Amino acid sequence: MTQKQTTISLGIVGAGAMGAGIAHAASASGIDVRLVDAREGAAQKACEAIGARLDKRVGQGKLSADEAEGTKRRLAAVRGLDELKDCDVVVEAIIEDLDAKAGLFEQLEDILRPEAVLASNTSSIPIGALAAGRRHRGRIAGMHFFNPVPLMKLVEVIAGPDTEEAVLDFLVDLGRRMGKTPVRVRDTPGFLVNFGGRAYPTEALAIVQEGVATPAQIDAVMRDCHGFRMGPFELMDLTGMDVNFPVTRFVHECYFYDPRLRSTPLHRYMVETGQLGRKAGRGFFRYEPESEDAAAEPTFDAEPTATVFVHGESTVLRELMAECGAELLDSDDGRSPILIAPLGEDCTAYVCREGLDRLRTMAIDTLGDTRSRVTLMAAPGAEESIRQGVASLLARRRKVTLIGDSPGFIGQRMVAMVANLGCEMAQSGVASVDDIDCAMRLGLNYPSGPLEMADALGVKNIHLILQQLQALTGDDRYRPSQWLRRRAQLGVSARVF
Ligand code: NAD
Repeated sequence: MTQKQTTISLGIVGAGAMGAGIAHAASASGIDVRLVDAREGAAQKACEAIGARLDKRVGQGKLSADEAEGTKRRLAAVRGLDELKDCDVVVEAIIEDLDAKAGLFEQLEDILRPEAVLASNTSSIPIGALAAGRRHRGRIAGMHFFNPVPLMKLVEVIAGPDTEEAVLDFLVDLGRRMGKTPVRVRDTPGFLVNFGGRAYPTEALAIVQEGVATPAQIDAVMRDCHGFRMGPFELMDLTGMDVNFPVTRFVHECYFYDPRLRSTPLHRYMVETGQLGRKAGRGFFRYEPESEDAAAEPTFDAEPTATVFVHGESTVLRELMAECGAELLDSDDGRSPILIAPLGEDCTAYVCREGLDRLRTMAIDTLGDTRSRVTLMAAPGAEESIRQGVASLLARRRKVTLIGDSPGFIGQRMVAMVANLGCEMAQSGVASVDDIDCAMRLGLNYPSGPLEMADALGVKNIHLILQQLQALTGDDRYRPSQWLRRRAQLGVSARVF
């Protein structure tokens, strides 16, 4: 193995979804690929399927015939591991089983040249465990691709305890040649993306568990107010509960049941009842053709409130009220709604702290983008006419999500949890700050990385939201990362090392 050599011969073991995807992406980028599978004919079939996909793209005018032919020429199905003996690097993508993968590496060790690199596409097995017992542990590393490989830009390059620096450089270069963005990641449970990705779905499930909001409401807020392309529930439905629940449980167990990574009974229930998501026609939403549109917006028919008193300093709230046509009172008139913009507190806590009238106080979330949608909540027992009147007023100019009382509404607690886990990854050195943000954008399609998110919404704000959540719920799930706490106290960016 020499770094930056011009031609690379890549062996791939396992011609399933991932092996075939890696073979496709590599051969399309000019790399010679030999694909092998233990199942008779599986590698040949995978090559034929890739060929058919290439032909289709040529037919659609998306690929030139020359490029397609070149890709096919570089791709060969081989019948046995010994035909990989001249490969510079072998990536294994066989079943997710330590014994099977370790046994494969043991065989390959005897076949490959001593300097050839051995990489695993494992999602969950420590690279160190695969290297243990091997003669040349320095050449063993993780190369974790994402499904579907030809489309997903990210690859995680993972160092085991003995992996040589030159091997990591070589794999980073290989990833780049394949048109991917490689990030270097420590050998920790879930690596980067499968760990960092736990906050978004589990916090959404916690909000549903508490009866605060529905999956459709949570998805809508995360799309409209925080720029996520998909809400957590549509995302879980897309990946499938049979995939995301085991990953969630695995990471939770590996971190010795850290409450930050905890899911809810509903998550398991979805698996147990076969509500697996899109693939089953039913998950958190229904996907049968006759299904009703779960995301239909509610309408508010009550007479819009004419006058409001805004308590606190929020200019966003004042401007929003003025835009909706409300008259802003200078002081509480004892009749009109009192509007507040809490950060991390629920309406109840704010009302009690400030001695406000609990029947007339309505809380509006002003963190994030409020240009198309706002979230509204009140304390238990609030007057329904006030609740509906304020909702109608806002509905003149915005979509309105009316939820149960919750510290941090929906958006604040969701982004605070995503940012906090990003900070924790930075604190424990899972990857560099840049790589954490980049991986979460590319691997999970987040609108920005978790540390960028903390900066955009305010490091102090995120820290305060988590402190309030922890204090009000008594749940250490919300304890702020020390990385976040230090940067909030110092008043510096979450991305400062
Ligand atoms: P898959 O079941 O689609 O394919 C596995 C292939 O490996 C099968 O064709 C099987 O015949 C072959 N195989 C099994 N044992 C073998 C052996 N000893 N030698 C040669 N071939 C063998 O699985 P997949 O989804 O492609 O996953 C493969 C690996 O990639 C796993 O380690 C998985 O954790 C990891 N991974 C999967 C995804 C994903 O989204 N599917 C994403 C990232 C990583």
